[in-house]
Amino acid sequence: MGARILFEEPTLFRILTDEALLNMGEEFQLICQKYSKLQRRLKKSKHPIYTQMVYYRKTLRLYEEGVEPYNISKFLGIRFSTILSWIKGHHPLSSYIVSEFNYHFGYTLGAAIGDGAVSYPNIIFSWLKDEDFVDAIADSVKSMGLKTWVWKKRNHQVAFCNAIFAQLVLLGKHSAQTLLPLLSSSKEVAIGVVSGFFDAEGRSGWGKKYLYDAPRASNTKIEIIHLIKGLLDYLGIHSTILKSKNKEFISPKTNKKYRPKSEYIYSVRIKRCCVKRFYKLIGFRIKRKQEELSKLVQTRFRYICPI
Ligand SMILES: [Zn+2]
Repeated sequence: MGARILFEEPTLFRILTDEALLNMGEEFQLICQKYSKLQRRLKKSKHPIYTQMVYYRKTLRLYEEGVEPYNISKFLGIRFSTILSWIKGHHPLSSYIVSEFNYHFGYTLGAAIGDGAVSYPNIIFSWLKDEDFVDAIADSVKSMGLKTWVWKKRNHQVAFCNAIFAQLVLLGKHSAQTLLPLLSSSKEVAIGVVSGFFDAEGRSGWGKKYLYDAPRASNTKIEIIHLIKGLLDYLGIHSTILKSKNKEFISPKTNKKYRPKSEYIYSVRIKRCCVKRFYKLIGFRIKRKQEELSKLVQTRFRYICPI
């Protein structure tokens, strides 16, 4: 016994406890039930990848303790051939491309939770207003080691393909709180997520109408706003959550008025004491927004609270 297992779990998942992984697995299963198309594409495996990783860890622990593979298979209810392949050095993630866990991963994920759409296993951003936002996303995707497709002709669009990333975006959109343990495990990643989300859904707070406003980002899903607030807390940036009535909006695609799907819109707003901290640590990658924020900091929010 005591076989040396050569496979090392990618950092992205190594830091998660079994509990956090099981929670992600359960939530992902619920999302799959909602989207039958997604379920069809994933049907080859009975358990979501996160749940499989917990079984994988258990298998290795039991094997090290001397339990026979056949008994592990019976005990966990996992196919014998799967157990054998894990013991031989295969990992549930072996057949996937898992990106680096860094600022660029965070930025792309934050932007996708805000402005992206998932057509599994693709992640697509379309009708982006700012061309430099397209470039920022494309740069970050490339820095994650993935290929991107960029269109700038008819509308601004970026797309890329990665199954694990697409799953994380879905979790972020439908069950944002399950991502908090993962995203608040690294300052670099947390900064990336907040930055990407603010580029997608935020505004600087500078304008004639709102003389004393501060940067804020909005979404119709309160869970997403809670996730961003959780990350801001982790980074030591004070913020508050606001709720307001959702107004009708005009689609940039068809120029028609739409009634919003949800009645309320939620925002996370940086507290005045921490606007300068936000500017120094996070800021915007969209030039237009960053220039406004810079004006705001120079004129109104010059001090940093000691926390
Ligand atoms: Zn503060």
